[in-house]
Amino acid sequence: MISKLLDGNKRFVETVFEKEKEYFADLAKLQRPTVLWIGCSDSRVPVNTITQTRPGEVFTHRNVGNIVATNDWNLSAVLEFTINHLKIPDVVVCGHYNCGAINALLNESEEDRYIPIWLNSAHKAMERVDDRIRLLRIQIPPEQRRRLIEEENVRLQLEHLIEYPFVRKAMHDGKLSIHGWMYDMDTGEIKVMQKNSIACQP
Ligand SMILES: [Zn+2]
Repeated sequence: MISKLLDGNKRFVETVFEKEKEYFADLAKLQRPTVLWIGCSDSRVPVNTITQTRPGEVFTHRNVGNIVATNDWNLSAVLEFTINHLKIPDVVVCGHYNCGAINALLNESEEDRYIPIWLNSAHKAMERVDDRIRLLRIQIPPEQRRRLIEEENVRLQLEHLIEYPFVRKAMHDGKLSIHGWMYDMDTGEIKVMQKNSIACQP
């Protein structure tokens, strides 16, 4: 399998790169992405493929469960760089259905050491959905509950995003919009869930 990647790179150099030499030469000098994509690491959600975007267009940060944690220095540096230096105008937090991270949240394994700690930042999404179900006194199939939690997780991570003071400031100055999306791997479609609807104080 690993040789497939290097063979693929050879084909890329010989075909795509060769054909669009100027595009890649300009790109090598400067990147001007206009979107920061915060998505799940899941191999079935490849951002450039599902959005039909080219190299240089989308700055990407992916992790297990598309989590925005304010104690994650990796993401903090990505946000600081893209918002304060690259002046990116749009941030997308894109979740997806059939997410293994949300599955792990719902079925916590005692053997795992790190996954449960990481998923602490998504725990509230599960609590909120379960509270709603309890209040409504309804029964819903497990699959539907999971989908609701996957969607709520995106809303929750958008809330975490605006805990960063420089994110709030950029939004307040009208320089930044944040978006919550869901990718459905059964249909290939992205559903727009939320845009900037969180009350934003500078
Ligand atoms: Zn996932």
